[in-house]
Amino acid sequence: MSDYINKLPTSVADLEEDAHILHDYEGAVSRWCHGCGDNAILTALQKLCAEEQLPPEKTVFASGIGCASRLPHYMGTYGFHGLHGRALPVAEGIKIKRPDLHVFVNTGDGDCCSIGAAHWLHAVRYNMNMTVMLHDNRIYGLTKNQVSPTSPKGLVTSTTPRGATLQPLNAVAATLGMSNVSFVAQAADWVPGILYDILHLAFLHRGLSFVSILQRCPHYLPGHFDEYIKNPERTLLLTHPNGLQPDEASARRFKSREEHDPADLSRAQALAVMDDKLALGILYRNESIPCYEDMYRREQHLPIEDKIAALEREFDRFTVKPEL
Ligand code: SF4
Repeated sequence: MSDYINKLPTSVADLEEDAHILHDYEGAVSRWCHGCGDNAILTALQKLCAEEQLPPEKTVFASGIGCASRLPHYMGTYGFHGLHGRALPVAEGIKIKRPDLHVFVNTGDGDCCSIGAAHWLHAVRYNMNMTVMLHDNRIYGLTKNQVSPTSPKGLVTSTTPRGATLQPLNAVAATLGMSNVSFVAQAADWVPGILYDILHLAFLHRGLSFVSILQRCPHYLPGHFDEYIKNPERTLLLTHPNGLQPDEASARRFKSREEHDPADLSRAQALAVMDDKLALGILYRNESIPCYEDMYRREQHLPIEDKIAALEREFDRFTVKPEL
């Protein structure tokens, strides 16, 4: 965050002619509730775009349906507000045809982990180069207070008046168990410096970066994350020279820290299911997994003779030979 502030031009004369400022990434005025954690995520993303000088005309935010999915409207970039649960296939379609674009995905816990769960699984497997943010507020907000897959057991909602009966789905642990997973991180909207740094590292990763962001919904679940917000010792900050290096304020606030190597998948899986603490940081990163769009483009650029030979081989498999 401080790097970003240091790099900001101090006067109009300092601006290069084609440099982008924060204002370039501002879209419509947000209609989220006052105090909604989505606002912090939006702010971090606008700062990230400005820091990386992403051309707005080459940047796309794709989303599904839900409070979180309104985010593309509030960015001054391209956006695609899709169908419920379909944020990821929309983003994959964009990326496969336009790999030069910077693709971001904003999806909620209902959108991603319920109706969109199959797309989530396969998007991780395809490992296309995009930054995926799960805004996990543990409730359906837009449709007014129904239980979501990540709602804790016992939560009283309009669809579970006697309390949720099932154990919640742990989205971070689930993603860490998926084939071809290449980047998993956990952030919280109420720790904006760490949220920003995590999103920045996620953006720089080549492959699908999955960032689960615990997001406050003060309208339907006021005080839901207070156990962590009021007790910083309940947060475990994951630091590493190849991962997160917290700013001074965060380092002062969060004394409980662990040097965690993001290459260590089994420790990442243990950290994801810890009961007593909330792990924030980069849990896992594997830079050796190929991106599907690169493989796809390699095939597209095969010489014509090779394409014909491959087709002939395929036809031969189905040739019915006359009986002699
Ligand atoms: Fe945010 Fe909850 Fe309001 Fe939706 S209902 S905008 S998640 S506070």
